[in-house]
Amino acid sequence: MTFTLAIVGRPNVGKSTLFNRLVGKRLALVDDQPGVTRDLREGQGRLGDLRFIVVDSAGLEMAEDDSLQGRMRRLTERAVDEADVCLFIIDARVGVTAADEYFADILRKRAKHVILAANKAEGRAGEAGAIEAYALGLGEPLRISAEHGEGMDDLYRALVPLAEGFEAQNVQQAPETDVAVEDGDEEAEDWRPSERKPLQIAVIGRPNAGKSTLINRILGEDRLLTGPEAGITRDSISVGTTFMGTPVRIFDTAGMRKKARVTDKVEKLSVADGLRAVRFAEVVVVLLDVGIPFEQQDLRIADFAESEGRAVVVAANKWDLEEDKPEKLKELREAFERLLPQLKGAPLVTVSARTGKGLDRLHAAILRAHEVWNRRVSTARLNQWLSAMTEAHPTPAPGGRRIRLRYITQVKTRPPAFVIMATHTDKLPDSYARYLVNGLRQDFDMPGTPIRLTFRDQG
Ligand code: GDP
Ligand code: GDP
Repeated sequence: MTFTLAIVGRPNVGKSTLFNRLVGKRLALVDDQPGVTRDLREGQGRLGDLRFIVVDSAGLEMAEDDSLQGRMRRLTERAVDEADVCLFIIDARVGVTAADEYFADILRKRAKHVILAANKAEGRAGEAGAIEAYALGLGEPLRISAEHGEGMDDLYRALVPLAEGFEAQNVQQAPETDVAVEDGDEEAEDWRPSERKPLQIAVIGRPNAGKSTLINRILGEDRLLTGPEAGITRDSISVGTTFMGTPVRIFDTAGMRKKARVTDKVEKLSVADGLRAVRFAEVVVVLLDVGIPFEQQDLRIADFAESEGRAVVVAANKWDLEEDKPEKLKELREAFERLLPQLKGAPLVTVSARTGKGLDRLHAAILRAHEVWNRRVSTARLNQWLSAMTEAHPTPAPGGRRIRLRYITQVKTRPPAFVIMATHTDKLPDSYARYLVNGLRQDFDMPGTPIRLTFRDQG
């Protein structure tokens, strides 16, 4: 069972780049002659365990005449008509253009299923453009980078239910393409859906907090070391193992390496390393030395993890040394709330890397933070919630005109991101935005994850 995916969008948004990524080495260039290359290209695509036919449309052009543009447009329409799913690409860095809107209209009318993707959104680029794309009315835009391979897991997740639907309908086999298929040794990409990927964890903290002791303890617990892997960057190292039965990959900095004598210089380096490890992690464990908790460095690191949008678990280590545990715990919680308000509600667990006590709590907190980070709230529930919130605390009415919050939807997970369509958003006080974010966190039970809330002005 397979299905046909057409990649459509105006020129230069990155269709061919994505096509090449999905098709990999099995790339099928129909013809190399000028003019012909602008025709539809087909190839066998794969993403995780999904197999499908990909069609790269030449590019949607706004033209009604019989010019090259007109011909291309008809070709595109043909691709749209024949495809089971259309992947509509916009350029996140440019935002929504008139051409995008025009063709969104065509897709809404003609396409069986549309997945909207805002491309060129690597790192945090194009955030605004991606949110703007929501207004195209084609559902939630995925943020992807065709060039860097980001967002492919989200694309996979968007395709799976559709693919299952096609399977259930027992749709006939898509026609064989007359495309030369090279089934070489080279796979398109060694990519697996993230469901099966180990949970990616970074353990960070100031030198001597106990990072290497903790990591070695976790490795020792299960003795299923899958072998160190030369890092994604030269300076960071990751290791795969299981943590109480959960497959994990731990990104470490100095921890797993033989440590040199800790000089000032090395300390600075290892903090920079730690920051890098954060970027690869899903959940960041901020490890504190309970003897000297919440030092400047700890705060900086925790703040960085939050601003990078990672799920955060704070673990106070060396708990075995504490005499008055209840009193200390109270103290820690107070300091945490005061010093890291942006991580409100993040789990704080106490552990002893040396004795192994509390590792079960740490394990549970990591799983929960990861789950919350991936949480999706339905639009219906969100909008009920929004009216209750505005009823309880009406929005301000600067100059006698009330700011209206019309509609809320979740546009993204990992971390959860929400958009509210509103009027006069520039006049909305930060305190009101905080009220909403705190409400989201509390009412939908989302501790331990950053929450992003953006407002889209509707005049
Ligand atoms: P097409 O005309 O839609 O097929 O677009 P192309 O695939 O030819 O890409 C147009 C330009 O955008 C090229 O210069 C690509 O290198 C660039 N591009 C494609 N995808 C990305 C991406 O994810 N990020 C960035 N920064 N550039 C990209
Ligand atoms: P790193 O620099 O963060 O990797 O810290 P290490 O793992 O090297 O630990 C620094 C020191 O703290 C070492 O002497 C460890 O033995 C000690 N240590 C680590 N974890 C614990 C703990 O849970 N309890 C106690 N008492 N000492 C610990």
